[in-house]
Amino acid sequence: MNTFVQNIFLTKKETLKCSTCQKRIPLGERYVAESEKHRGTCFSCSPFVKSAFLKPGNAALTRRSKKHSNYCGVLFTWNGRRKRFERKGQYVEAAAITKAEQECADDEKDRARKNEKAAVVRAAQDKIYIAEFSKAIRGLYPNCPKNREVAIATHACEKYSGRVGRTAKAKEFDKAMIDLAVEAHIRHKETNYDSQFGTGKSKRMIRSDVKLDITTVLRKWS
Ligand SMILES: [Zn+2]
Repeated sequence: MNTFVQNIFLTKKETLKCSTCQKRIPLGERYVAESEKHRGTCFSCSPFVKSAFLKPGNAALTRRSKKHSNYCGVLFTWNGRRKRFERKGQYVEAAAITKAEQECADDEKDRARKNEKAAVVRAAQDKIYIAEFSKAIRGLYPNCPKNREVAIATHACEKYSGRVGRTAKAKEFDKAMIDLAVEAHIRHKETNYDSQFGTGKSKRMIRSDVKLDITTVLRKWS
């Protein structure tokens, strides 16, 4: 790799002079600094005059275009408030940017493929989770209506989506967790809980109202 890097500053001094054409570099113009701080050229005399400019913001694109270019000029502008120079992009060969963009686009395909794979794995895990959780519900509530255990397990799976330990085995589901899921299901499907909202009652009152109904159903199902 024969990339050479040079810093380009927007001048904040009027005293700067181009070491090639000897012209003064006006305030706010691009000054291409050489190794020593006080030596440099104007932008027109520099090798960057024919290059393409890449704005910052995409780290991979910045890194790759620099790698593929034979030279790189990093543009700095003076931040008066912070009293320091800040990176504002780089001048590199146009072909290097094209190549870097291609590489980034290829990566994107890779990333999309990985995401797709992960989604398939997740769907399979969900299926296992629902099957195992259903089994555990059925075990505790053998008299619950047909397929209700699947509805309850599916809802729980959505609710806890992405949580650690979602692929638990049936024996790993504890009774309290199952009871909570079953109770919530009964509250919404077997009582008048939902229709009582908006009638002036507080949520707490409605909850205590349906408590007995829930207990009755739970007993029937177990
Ligand atoms: Zn010059």
